[in-house]
Amino acid sequence: MAGQSKIIANNDADASHTQGTTFRNLAPELQQMIFTEALCKPHVHFVTAQRRDDKTHNKWTITILPVSKGHDRSGYRWLQTLSTISHASSRAVRLATLEKDCLPFPGLRNHMDTSTDLVCIDFNRPKHKPEYGHWNAKNQIRASPSHPSFNPEAVASKVGKVHKLAFTYHPRHASCSTRRNVFRCLPQKSKHRDWKICPEELVGLLDCFQNLEAVYIILLPGQKKEAKMRANHYTKNFFALSAAEREACGFEIFHDSKCPYIEVDSDPNSKLLTRTVHLGPNSQHEEAYKPELLDEIFEILHDARKQYLEQASHTRGRHMSLEKRSRVSFKVLLHTNRKNADI
Ligand SMILES: [Zn+2]
Repeated sequence: MAGQSKIIANNDADASHTQGTTFRNLAPELQQMIFTEALCKPHVHFVTAQRRDDKTHNKWTITILPVSKGHDRSGYRWLQTLSTISHASSRAVRLATLEKDCLPFPGLRNHMDTSTDLVCIDFNRPKHKPEYGHWNAKNQIRASPSHPSFNPEAVASKVGKVHKLAFTYHPRHASCSTRRNVFRCLPQKSKHRDWKICPEELVGLLDCFQNLEAVYIILLPGQKKEAKMRANHYTKNFFALSAAEREACGFEIFHDSKCPYIEVDSDPNSKLLTRTVHLGPNSQHEEAYKPELLDEIFEILHDARKQYLEQASHTRGRHMSLEKRSRVSFKVLLHTNRKNADI
């Protein structure tokens, strides 16, 4: 997103006077085109959540909240910044958000394009988050029938316009066998104790989204050298493809205010997930070289999709039909660090 920082710089009083003047001297239509280019749609919008208890009915739900402005790289924050730069930028933002809608939290005007944009519920943002109960109805009963149960209707009433939904996945997130995890397993389930999202529990939340089209897990590589190298390798391979090739493969890209999020090929034998090893002057071979945690994330999504389809048989009012559920895609996105990329 080199374009964004350049435009901000041009608006900065300390930035090169010549550069700023040159840009301002461009025809308004041309300025607007440049701003439209810098919008980099579709966007990722980050929200966080907080547990809310209803003691009268012995139920709990979640309130969806914005991420604090200083730490938020959501697309809508970027649009707000961009729209204040000039008349041309404000017009570019207005034209790009004709199909606008607001994120599901009150008291804040924000714009997203529900047909293309992604909403990421980042449960790991708040430092002192209260413990969540089980999301999946069958696990609530098995865990303890007397504990407050999750109220999916309360969430469903707010998120009807969200079509694309994401969750983050980081090597340092708590595993789903611990109480600190938001999507934690029932204690007796140990098959996937090291995963960071229990697929069965994830499905309990997905059931609230009546117009869901796609679910994404965003892999955040973390700070370890090898993990970063593997993630960078995939990113390099991905952007070595032309835009036409990426489109032919159906790969998606989303943007926050700084970086792109790129789809990870679900084919385990994909050339994008390999590297060439040179054994000698005339000898080389291809070997798998994938981002860390990738295999387990695909397993989580595979299991979650299976259970999501099975859950269709428990159809009650708000639930989506099997036919609609089978069209929901489950994908992995990689958070890249391509600040200076020209894409
Ligand atoms: Zn589990």
